[in-house]
Amino acid sequence: MAELRTASTAPAAPVAARDRQGRPLRDLRVSVTDRCNFRCVYCMPKEVFGKDYPFLDRGEILTFEEIARMARIFRELGVEKIRLTGGEPLVRRNLEQLIEMLARIPGLDLTLTTNGSLLKRQARALRDAGLKRITVSLDSLDDAVFRRMNDVDFPVARVLEGVEAAAAAGLSPVKINMVVKRGENDASVLPMARHFRGSGHILRYIEYMDVGHTNGWRMEDVVTAREIIEMIGAETPLEPVEPNYTGEVAERWRYRDGSGEIGVIASVTQAFCRDCTRIRLSTEGKLYTCLFATGGHDLRALLRGGASDREITDTVTGIWAKRTDRYSEIRTAQTAKLQKIEMSYIGG
Ligand code: SAM
Ligand code: SF4
Ligand code: SF4
Repeated sequence: MAELRTASTAPAAPVAARDRQGRPLRDLRVSVTDRCNFRCVYCMPKEVFGKDYPFLDRGEILTFEEIARMARIFRELGVEKIRLTGGEPLVRRNLEQLIEMLARIPGLDLTLTTNGSLLKRQARALRDAGLKRITVSLDSLDDAVFRRMNDVDFPVARVLEGVEAAAAAGLSPVKINMVVKRGENDASVLPMARHFRGSGHILRYIEYMDVGHTNGWRMEDVVTAREIIEMIGAETPLEPVEPNYTGEVAERWRYRDGSGEIGVIASVTQAFCRDCTRIRLSTEGKLYTCLFATGGHDLRALLRGGASDREITDTVTGIWAKRTDRYSEIRTAQTAKLQKIEMSYIGG
């Protein structure tokens, strides 16, 4: 049962916010921009996110001060980890200033997911600002495949340079995320495993999901985590690794010869809603309790309307207390067509 606090009692103190299924609030994902310099076919298809797409205006998006204030409030509510995402977070100007503000919040594990395109020149500044870890998305080592998937003709080599710059700056181990879509990049699964084995970076394969409502998702296009593990294990034997903590989304595997570890994120075939402790803050300050939500809660109005920290805390606690989300457990071809919020806006 959630601990709901009323507006007039005791001063703000950490509360163990629990949702209707007893899940605590532990992770916050913050989308710092809805814009991106890629048009990945599974996320921001060009036909939809073309020239005339109504991206948010500058005044609509949360300022760094507003994000940092929200982060402090969430920390008080028990959030231990914040992931900055987007859109492409590195296209947001002066992002290192936000990192600096967030890195000052005690006890917070701060990380960021990027497409890596701008990482080479920003890695050092991000590290200096206090970022400790980073995840880079890369869907293939085959240049033709990768250029087709990002749909802006961006070459693999520049992402790899970003990965190396991040590792050299001390943002290691770098995690590499690969979304696997059948017929698009499934032939890249093994070459990616071979490339990153023994590199010190941790490769994680993600099942292709029906995020948003523009990517034309079909179950047939999902390459399952099981298939991926079998494919890689047949070449280089693998054994399972215990999760680091309850609710860890990636299932971990290590090479038996000690040459490293990989992960699979089976969001479609092995739903992990039961342990889902994540909440998402969109670029314009709406709060979403599920990646597949069809609606959010406007916090920007509170932030800009003079609400106290206490009032915002109570609002968030109330939203989390009502949470019943378990989309991945009830997904069907029909639910896939719902008008869900786009991932590039809500943050992956
Ligand atoms: N632009 C950054 C990037 O690509 O890393 C951050 C935002 S992106 C929305 C976050 C993550 O979501 C990326 O790793 C991306 O590959 C993943 N993603 C996007 N669309 C997806 C989909 N349909 N299924 C599974 N993962 C997806
Ligand atoms: Fe941009 Fe990331 Fe979406 Fe690709 S997955 S379009 S890089 S936000
Ligand atoms: Fe969490 Fe929603 Fe994903 Fe389930 S579907 S794991 S509730 S974000």
